[in-house]
Amino acid sequence: MPATTATPALLASQHRGASITERVEHEPEAFRILTGDRPTGPLHIGHYFGTLQNRVRLQDAGAELLVLIADYQAITDRYSSADLPRDVLGLVADYLAVGIDPDRATIFAHSQVEELNQLLLPFLSLVSVAEIGRNPTVKDEVATTGSAAVTGLMFTYPVHQAADILFCHANLVPVGKDQLPHLELARTIARRFNDRYSPAAPYFPEPEALLSAAPLLLGLDGTKMGKSRNNSVPLRASADQTARLVARAKTDSDRVISYEPERRPEVSSLLLMAALCTDQSPQSVADRIGDGGAAALKAEVTHAINQRFAAVRARRAELSADPGYLRLILAEGTERARAIAGETLRSVRRLMYNSY
Ligand code: ATP
Ligand code: MG
Repeated sequence: MPATTATPALLASQHRGASITERVEHEPEAFRILTGDRPTGPLHIGHYFGTLQNRVRLQDAGAELLVLIADYQAITDRYSSADLPRDVLGLVADYLAVGIDPDRATIFAHSQVEELNQLLLPFLSLVSVAEIGRNPTVKDEVATTGSAAVTGLMFTYPVHQAADILFCHANLVPVGKDQLPHLELARTIARRFNDRYSPAAPYFPEPEALLSAAPLLLGLDGTKMGKSRNNSVPLRASADQTARLVARAKTDSDRVISYEPERRPEVSSLLLMAALCTDQSPQSVADRIGDGGAAALKAEVTHAINQRFAAVRARRAELSADPGYLRLILAEGTERARAIAGETLRSVRRLMYNSY
């Protein structure tokens, strides 16, 4: 998909996003923000511009932030959990390096919070198998691997994700564009739970998505940048690694560099990366490169990424040298998340089964 294809739904979400950001600045205490990532590899610049930057902004505006590491979700489409300990601590290092503050934010892995996972049972009763099957991620997986190979966990994970969001009554979720259908299901589940068990006073809020200005950054092969796709520039990459990664990015043979997301998605995506890193418009980056061709474009992108993330990388290297500290942050976050989830589970049981 081109770098900036704007569907009406996407534009509406982005417009709502601008007014939500203003509301958070005026009334931060009215917001509880939950968002998360799969521990399937190091975070990349798509995460940074798609969601991490918004998380830090909201935290700094004074809203409460919870960041969830989706370690059950990581095993929906891979069989081995051997890399999980490394990848989970890697995510904690990425978070702290970009400015998530463990004194204010709660960072935890969802497998450690039993009470959160129990919400899956009542929530499953609120959706049909057909509804889950229409979820684009599940649909893609069924199309790619065939329904017989799709695991029960993969099939139910949009509902699990609703539990991730609703267990803490989050009302705002900063995500990339790929997450919008999941969020819609979380809203549906909240609404149905309220209608069925708490009609007089809605118990769960209907969470809103917050999209950034770069809700779908493309990777070096021109498809969505993803940690599992071998097409990303990880935040932690060194300057040399970044140069090598960008050197193999797909471009085209037109020497005049122009920002045309529909016609030239790969070149436009590289321009967008440089622009995001340097706070300029992609058009002005293109104008500067002019007829320098792909080589000049790649040199510009490499320089921009390396400049923008030098401090983040240095901080991340320091943090990674102290895994004990990263584990401690996770243990503290888990404790806070468990207290919240326990409270929610007790209320859910009371609402559902108040007669015994
Ligand atoms: P995987 O390939 O393992 O699914 P991923 O790179 O897609 O990894 P996730 O952990 O699935 O990352 O997503 C974490 C968050 O980052 C989500 O909110 C998602 O919308 C956002 N995100 C992921 N990739 C991008 C991207 N290329 N551009 C913008 N946002 C993104
Ligand atoms: Mg993903």
